[in-house]
Amino acid sequence: MKIQIEMLTTKPAHQVRKANALTIGKVAKEKVFRQGEEHDFWKEQMLHLHSTLNKVRFNIILKDVRADVVSQLVRHTKKAPIPTVQSSRPDWNGGQKRKPSDETYISFMMEHSAESWLELCKQRLCRSTMKETRLVVEDIINAMAITEIPFFEALAEFSAPKCIYRYGCCERLQCGYFNRFLKHVDSVFGGDRNDIKTRFYMHDCFSVTEQRENRDS
Ligand SMILES: [Zn+2]
Repeated sequence: MKIQIEMLTTKPAHQVRKANALTIGKVAKEKVFRQGEEHDFWKEQMLHLHSTLNKVRFNIILKDVRADVVSQLVRHTKKAPIPTVQSSRPDWNGGQKRKPSDETYISFMMEHSAESWLELCKQRLCRSTMKETRLVVEDIINAMAITEIPFFEALAEFSAPKCIYRYGCCERLQCGYFNRFLKHVDSVFGGDRNDIKTRFYMHDCFSVTEQRENRDS
């Protein structure tokens, strides 16, 4: 599978600063960020999740992704992402016989705001999600983290399952992830897990550790 992350908004930080300023009757001048400053700006925006953050739109483009994974991702409609899915109409694919969806690989593109993406992560990072789907979501987050674009780097840090927000798994059958997270946090950080900012930070570190362990085992 190939992943491409594409920013659709020109001058995203300026668009959000302009919108934020307007809400308090001010006008924002375009700001030149110093090293690391834009990253902090986005982290703050993603913590607050004000509606002005929706000024920023981006595309996630997946090539050769399993069709059954796509059908799970496409069912995420919270905060209105815009999906585009490769067709499997027989008159468009040279009359090839259709295979089962877990043997079919297609292209998929989804246009998101930060908020619609975070909504998708809440559910699809839960360990009760189909594993293949969760791994695709983790791959997308890892791809965001190395874009060297502050908006995506910050978004990767905030991409977390619902249990991190709600302090526990919300599925009928507890997935066990949150308990592992708490144990890890206690032994490694000893930080204040009641603080949501700390919890996001610790989750970001923990998810990387757990991914590495799963790959090694
Ligand atoms: Zn869970």
